[in-house]
Amino acid sequence: MKKLAGKSLVIVAALTAASASAALQIVPAPRKAVEGEGTFVCTGDVVAQVKFESDTAVPKEGYRLSVAKDGIKIVSSDEAGRFYALETLKQLAAKEGKDGVKVPCVEIEDSPRYSWRGLHLDECRHFFGKETVKSILDLMARYKLNRFHWHLTEDQGWRVDVPGYPDLVKYGAVRSASPRHGEKAYTGTKEDAAKLNGVRYGPYYYTEADLKEIVAYAAARHIQVVPEIELPGHVYAALAAYPQFACCPENLSSREPRLVWGIEKDVLCLGNDEAIKFMENVVDWVCKVFPGDVVHIGGDECPQIRWQSCPKCQARIKKEGLGDHNGLQPWITRHFVKFLADRGKRTLGWDEYLLGDIPKSAMGMSWRESRSGAGHELVSGAAAATRGHDVVMTPCSYCYLDYGQGLGDDPFLYIGGKVTLERCYSFDPCAGVPDDAKSHILGGQGNNWTEYTWNEYDLAWKVWPRMLALSEVFWLGEAKPGFADFKKRAAVQRSWLVSHGVNCAPIE
Ligand SMILES: [Zn+2]
Repeated sequence: MKKLAGKSLVIVAALTAASASAALQIVPAPRKAVEGEGTFVCTGDVVAQVKFESDTAVPKEGYRLSVAKDGIKIVSSDEAGRFYALETLKQLAAKEGKDGVKVPCVEIEDSPRYSWRGLHLDECRHFFGKETVKSILDLMARYKLNRFHWHLTEDQGWRVDVPGYPDLVKYGAVRSASPRHGEKAYTGTKEDAAKLNGVRYGPYYYTEADLKEIVAYAAARHIQVVPEIELPGHVYAALAAYPQFACCPENLSSREPRLVWGIEKDVLCLGNDEAIKFMENVVDWVCKVFPGDVVHIGGDECPQIRWQSCPKCQARIKKEGLGDHNGLQPWITRHFVKFLADRGKRTLGWDEYLLGDIPKSAMGMSWRESRSGAGHELVSGAAAATRGHDVVMTPCSYCYLDYGQGLGDDPFLYIGGKVTLERCYSFDPCAGVPDDAKSHILGGQGNNWTEYTWNEYDLAWKVWPRMLALSEVFWLGEAKPGFADFKKRAAVQRSWLVSHGVNCAPIE
């Protein structure tokens, strides 16, 4: 993706007069648009021509945009609404002559259906870096997405330099090998070991200054960064730095992250007070670096096999009256829900972490549609919402952008599955949720797991245009105008994306 930074006020649109209804060429479609006669024309910066007004009756993040021949007016109740009105204006505007800009006359009344309109990026399996992240944030703003879920720690890599713990990146941010391009390797068998490429990967990580730079860049675009620090599973890269925090330190003798993909059986020893103190220190630092109100603690795919034979974990179970190993994860989840609440934050985690007795204040991220992953019982989004948890819906068969997109010809690799553009557009975050629990569905998110995604071109291909469809779902919900209508507008957006250096996949 070409860097779009610093160009936010420059209007460069690919719209042409020959296209159909101008107001309908934007994505997400506006909730209500009435086209007028003629166009507004000016030279230079069109934003400088806009008159802004405030009206508390306009919904949160919503706006009214009036474009008339003699002027442009934006009315909103908050800064975000004003920001989104300008993003709409940028999509509507087209070049006129050498220095001119023209905007079709239109009256738009718009506001989002969902408050959580997210995009996720796994930087652990592969690392993309600040400039790619900024490009993603630019495009998120254009399509009115407002949560960037940043997956920063994993079995295969630890990507943040936490003060006081230099070994985290020394050992956790570099792999001596990864699965070869095109090979699928998930286990520790000899057969999978033979699929490794022997190429050093890293060290790749973000410093505190990098993270603060991204947080500020996102905030300027009304995007909250939601950091994810995985626990108690998917922590193998951290255990490479601190083997003493594992139930079986001898399993970490290589002192490096997991080299193949898949789920690691060595997880945090929950019987070890020092291991828990370590995680508290990391999470406490995360709370200070990321000012948003939500911290994601993972909680997915945590095998319990080590806990079953670990004397420390067994002692914890006995001391806390947890029954058996099944009681350990809910226990640590409750611990961190309180730890984060004490710091003014809400806790978010993948659906498995809601198993057991978990406070209603814990938010869930629903990804599974069956008992997949490490085999934990399914907690569906509908079930979690019915129990009173706020939920972000990211079901893999609609929202996983590392699944194949069903193109006739596709040079890129996928983890499997099939999520077509139309499938994304058909997503209803509230499907199957009882009416009285629907208020707990905060919205949805597109997820980029990156085992089979190597660089920004590969990533952009998988994100766009599917994220256009999801952005419209999250903005309009039940009011979306339909796939045929969307497809025409998405084609216009694809032209814009391609002309701005974004490797958007075709719309077939
Ligand atoms: Zn243990």
